[in-house]
Amino acid sequence: MNYSPNFMIHRNDYETDKKRVRSLEDWKLFAQKWFKEAEWPRKSSEQLTAESKWKRGPVRLSGRVWTYKFFPYDLTPEARYEYFLTLREVGGPIKFPDEVQMEKSPELGWRQECPYDEISTDEIGEPICPLCQRRLILERYSD
Ligand SMILES: [Zn+2]
Repeated sequence: MNYSPNFMIHRNDYETDKKRVRSLEDWKLFAQKWFKEAEWPRKSSEQLTAESKWKRGPVRLSGRVWTYKFFPYDLTPEARYEYFLTLREVGGPIKFPDEVQMEKSPELGWRQECPYDEISTDEIGEPICPLCQRRLILERYSD
């Protein structure tokens, strides 16, 4: 099915708003306007069952071990990638300023992920996704 949220449909307005985010208050307003998770459709149980059949992990890709991720909303892969990229690269430095200069090591909870393909690895290295060639996103899980 794959729902395309407003931020993918009204891309110019969205990009304009995104460029204006400077403060935590800006970020909150931006996220409230564009990332209305409560309105996004959730994957059906049939979709989740089908996904878990092929998402057997971990898998080895380009010499690294990856695990699959499960996103509950039924967005297009492009929307999913844009959503997580923006949370991490626009919202992240505002919400977690201490992480900006931090060493991006797995010991500190960092992973490289491709939300398009829903894969994640703690073997930090090559910054490009081995499946879709998009830039991998550094995500932190800890605390
Ligand atoms: Zn990818």
